[in-house]
This record gives sequence, structure tokens and C-alpha cells, in this order.
Amino acid sequence: MTASSRTGILGGRFDPIHLGHLETAAVAQRMLALDRVLLIPSRVSPHRGAPARATDRDRLALVTLAASGTVGLSPCQLELESEAPSYTAVTLERLRDQGHRRTQLFFIIGADAFADISTWHDYPAVLDGAHFVVVSRPGHPLADLIEALPDLRARMRPLSHNPERLSLDANAAPVVFLIDAVTPDISSTKIRARVARSEPLIGLVPDNVAAYIRRHRLYMPQGGDTSHLPDTGAELT
Ligand code: ATP
Ligand code: MG
Repeated sequence: MTASSRTGILGGRFDPIHLGHLETAAVAQRMLALDRVLLIPSRVSPHRGAPARATDRDRLALVTLAASGTVGLSPCQLELESEAPSYTAVTLERLRDQGHRRTQLFFIIGADAFADISTWHDYPAVLDGAHFVVVSRPGHPLADLIEALPDLRARMRPLSHNPERLSLDANAAPVVFLIDAVTPDISSTKIRARVARSEPLIGLVPDNVAAYIRRHRLYMPQGGDTSHLPDTGAELT
């Protein structure tokens, strides 16, 4: 890692990963000239909200397949390896322990998820652990976010053009970059519902991800054991 290298981090449930995630990572990578982006599936604790539908192993396999076609994109198991709940503040601290400076880390997040930032573990200190890169999402414009988070306005920095290599002061405090981008209107929730109805996933996930979902019978009705169901050969790709 060189002194000026920049690492993006896109965390999520990835249940499953889809083209909206990949486009969000690509937009952030392009706009901030990131050298790499790590895709970090979160460990979903049974005590925190609804459980993930696919296992940790399957979600990691899907993320690995999705990353395989893109230079600079890699899966990262940091949160899955840990017994502790997946808190971003802790993940950023672990990355800093590995030698990343906080101004070399760019935590990428959709506008829907960032809207809840004040409820996060270790807020507002978590925002000092890395730059945050907030990307708009269909139905979640940045204007709403700016309006809803007046306390953070001073550290928000909209990026409206494509900088060659935005120069950043390595010693300055991390900021919250805002990127207004057209990302596809896709959610994992929508994908799970489509699989349950045996509808195709064309244009929603990479082909190798669709093939894995089909082969492993993920997201079929009734969740777990689907061995009693006939293999209809439904084409999901
Ligand atoms: P679910 O429907 O299960 O909540 P999701 O599609 O929202 O799934 P997550 O794993 O919750 O996916 O999202 C991980 C991160 O990716 C979040 O920061 C989220 O805001 C962002 N994200 C997901 N889809 C998009 C999209 N289409 N455009 C921009 N950001 C997105
Ligand atoms: Mg979500």
C-alpha cells in the first residue's frame, strides 16, 4: 500500500449482491479515483433485526463471483470472520490497524442507509474513521438527505463533476462526499421476491450470480429445505 493509495469499502448484507451495488462501487471508484474497492458482507446477528435469507457462506460466494469480473474489486471477509456484531466503526478501526490511514479509506454507502447514520454504533465518532461517500439511490435523492441531516451539512462535500484525481489533504479531517448518480433501481428485496416467483433476473445481477442462486436454490419459497420441490428448470438468468 503506497502512502497515497485509496481504498473504498462497500458493506452490506448482499442478500444477494446485485448490479445496483456494483454500479454504486463503480461510480465511487471513478469519482474518487479509488485504487480498489472491498466488498464486505456483514455478519447478520440473529439478535439484530431480520436474519439474512442466505447463509454467510452463500452471500460471500455471491460477492466473490460478482467481484471476479472487475479489476480493483475484491471480496473481504473481515466482518464474517468476527464473532462481534458488524459495526462499521469497528471494521474501520480494524482496517486502520492493518495500516490504512483514515484519509485513505472511503466508506461507500447508499443515501437510504446513510439517512439512518445517527442511529449507528459510535455515532458521530464513526464519521471520523474514514471518508464517507454517499451515493444517491432511486427514491433517495441527496437533497432529502441534506435536509434531514443539518448537523452534518458542514462536513458534506458534493462531487458534481468527474475529477481527474481529486487532491485531498491527507492530514485534514475526513469528510462526507455526496455523489448524485443514476444507479439502477434494484434491491435485494426485489430480487428475492422475483426468485420466489420464478421470475428471471436478467439485468439485475451478474450472470454468474444468477446461476449460483439457481444452482443452490437460494431464496425459494419456505426458505430452508427445498429438496421436496420439483426442479422446474425455471430459467432465472
Ligand atoms: P435489501 O433490499 O435487502 O435492504 P439492498 O438492495 O438495500 O438490500 P443492502 O445490502 O442493504 O442492499 O445495501 C448495501 C449498501 O448498498 C447500502 O449502503 C445501500 O444503500 C447500497 N445500495 C444498494 N443498492 C443500491 C442502489 N441501487 N443504488 C445505490 N446504493 C445502493
Ligand atoms: Mg438495504
